[in-house]
Amino acid sequence: MWNEEMIKEYLKKHLKESRYKHVLGVVETSERLARLYGADENKARYAALIHDLAKGRSDEELLKIAIKSGYDVCNEEKKSPQLLHGLVAAIIAKEKMGIEDEEILNAATFHTTGKANMTLLEKIVYIADYIEPNRDFPEVQKLRDITFKDLDRGVLQGFDNTIKFVIERKEILHLKTIEARNYLLQEVIKGDT
Ligand code: FE
Ligand code: FE
Repeated sequence: MWNEEMIKEYLKKHLKESRYKHVLGVVETSERLARLYGADENKARYAALIHDLAKGRSDEELLKIAIKSGYDVCNEEKKSPQLLHGLVAAIIAKEKMGIEDEEILNAATFHTTGKANMTLLEKIVYIADYIEPNRDFPEVQKLRDITFKDLDRGVLQGFDNTIKFVIERKEILHLKTIEARNYLLQEVIKGDT
């Protein structure tokens, strides 16, 4: 299995500098959230390190790699192949880097869309991607505050923001994101009552 330094060398070679900096930010934030919420810090670091490793790839490449792995590409992914960059990152991490841990691979896979009933590690990488220190958008500090107080509420707010953003840009919304949001909303409501 590749160690962190090897993965970083790969990322430096394959990603734009700003994207590489983003990845290091996600690593840092994932590790902090893992410590705070009791997840495996080492797995959080690895999942964050690999999450965007397929980011620079073309639509054709993403589709090709996903299909070759046996994945059943859905209609939304055919229309917006960049939705596959998390899945393809996990495929490359497994095949090329020898990372076999399913928890790590799933956290990378679902950082793009989310899904219903996410694990702690999946939630951490999803929201760390959103709030890492290099992120700069109007609501980011508020989202950081929520996340460090209550992980589920932070992730839920992340889904809500994403869904609004995708709708405003008239882009394709992945069904998994809607399922993720509805599932977590019900969990949060349950916790309130
Ligand atoms: Fe990403
Ligand atoms: Fe990212």
